[in-house]
Amino acid sequence: MAKTQRLAVTLFDSLTRSERPFEPLVGATVRLYTCGPTVYRSQHIGNYRTFIFEDTLRRMLLASGWRVKHVMNITDVGHLVSDADDGEDKVEREARLTGKTAWDIAKYYEKEFIEDIAALNILPPTKLVRATEHITEQRALIKILEKKGFTYRTADGIYFDTSKLANYGELAGRDQRTIQAGSRVAIGEKQNSTDFALWKFSKTAEKKRDMEWPSPWGVGFPGWHIECSAMSMKYLGKTLDIHCGGADHREIHHPNEIAQSEAATGKTFSRFWMHSAFLTVKGEKMAKSSPETNITIAILRERGFDPLDFRYFVLGTHYRKPLSFSWEALEGARTARLKLVGSLANLPKRKARADDDMKKDILAAFADNLAAPQALARLWQGIRESASRPAVLWADHLFGLNLAHVPVTSPIPLDIQALADAREAYRQSKDWQKSDEMREKLTALGWRVEDTPHGPVVHKI
Ligand code: AMP
Ligand code: ZN
Repeated sequence: MAKTQRLAVTLFDSLTRSERPFEPLVGATVRLYTCGPTVYRSQHIGNYRTFIFEDTLRRMLLASGWRVKHVMNITDVGHLVSDADDGEDKVEREARLTGKTAWDIAKYYEKEFIEDIAALNILPPTKLVRATEHITEQRALIKILEKKGFTYRTADGIYFDTSKLANYGELAGRDQRTIQAGSRVAIGEKQNSTDFALWKFSKTAEKKRDMEWPSPWGVGFPGWHIECSAMSMKYLGKTLDIHCGGADHREIHHPNEIAQSEAATGKTFSRFWMHSAFLTVKGEKMAKSSPETNITIAILRERGFDPLDFRYFVLGTHYRKPLSFSWEALEGARTARLKLVGSLANLPKRKARADDDMKKDILAAFADNLAAPQALARLWQGIRESASRPAVLWADHLFGLNLAHVPVTSPIPLDIQALADAREAYRQSKDWQKSDEMREKLTALGWRVEDTPHGPVVHKI
C-alpha cells in the first residue's frame, strides 16, 4: 500500500525554549492535549485566541499527513479563585452568587463553549472530558504520589511537596529555591510556597458544596492541576506528544502538571509544550474577572461582528506574540475577511497554474511553527495571481475561515488533495483509465472522492 507523504514540521517548545523538528513518538498519530475552559463564566475572546491557536496547530498537523488524537478537558471543579490554593472554587462561588447549583453553572457554560467553538470553526476535540467524571482516576493518581512519598497532609488538604523534585518549575524558567528565599506570600501550612493542593477537604463549617466526593483522606474535591494529568494520561498514555495552553499556564498550572505526572510515572510527561501569548486590551491581559476587558463572543455579535472576523484577526499575528485587541483592529479584520469571501466568486473554478505553489507555500508556512501571518499573505498573493477557487478552499482547511460556509471539516493532506486534483484533470481530458488509477490510489490511502455539482470533494473512508 502506498504511504502518505508527510511534510516536515517544526515547532517551538516552551520547555527547551527552542524550535525543533516534530514527529509523533509512536506511529502516525499525534497525541495532543490542550487545557480547556473553566466553566464558571462565559469564555472571553482571550481564551478563544488560545483555542484558535490550538486549532490551527491541529489543522496544520492533519494537512501535513498526521492523524491527531486531541483531548481537551472541561474544568468543572477544583479551580480556586486564587492560584495559591485558597479562596472559593470558581464554579461553587458562581452558584452561590446566582442561586443555582454548581452542576447547572458548569453545564450552562460548557454548552455555550461548545456553541462558541463551532461559531469560530474550531474542530471539536476528539475527546472532551469533564473533571467531575474522572474523580476515580484523580484519586488513583494521588494514591500513587502518596505511596511514592510526594505528598503531605495539612488541615485543608493533601499537598504535593515540590521540594522533592530537583527540576520543579523548569518550564516557568524559575529556580524554586530563589522563590522560597524571596517569597513574601503567606504559605500557611504549606511546606514550600510552590507546593500545591492535590485534594482539598470540604469545609464542614460552611454550606455543603454541590460537588464533593469521598476519598481515603476525607470528603472533598480534587485540586485543579491533577485533573489534567489524570485525564491526559488516561486517554493519551504516559508521554504526550504536544501539550498546549495560554501563556499563564506556563507559570503554575503546567509546571504542576509536569511535577505530579513525572513523579508518578518516572517518564517525560510531554515531548513538546506550546503556549499562546495573551490577548490584551489597553496593555492588560484580558481576564474574566475584569469587567472592562472581558469581551465575549456574544458581545462581538451584539456589535455586528461574525466570530470568524475574530479568527481572521487572530491569524494576523504570530501566536507567540502578544496581540492587542481594539474594535478598530477587528473592523480591519472584518473588511479583509469579507474581501476574501468576495474574491472567491471571481476565481477560476478549475485547477490553475498558481495553485500548487500557493498550496505548498501556505502549508510550509504553517508547518514552520505556525507562521499564520506569512500564510495569510501568501493566500492573498495566490488570489492576486488567480489561483483557483478549489485551491483557496483547500487552503482554508488550514485557516479555518469557513470561506465556503460549509459545516466544520477536517483538513485534507496536501498529497491526498494532489491525487484528487490529478484525477479531476484526467477526467477533464477524458482519460478514464488514468482517472480510475488516481481513484484507486486514493482508496488505498483511505480516501474517497465524491463528484458534486460544485466539483469533486474528498472524504475519509
Ligand atoms: P480558563 O478558562 O481560564 O481555564 O482558560 C482557558 C484557556 O485560555 C487557557 O489555555 C488559558 O491559558 C487561556 N487564556 C486565559 N486568558 C487568556 C488571554 N488573555 N489571552 C490568551 N489566552 C488566555
Ligand atoms: Zn491543564
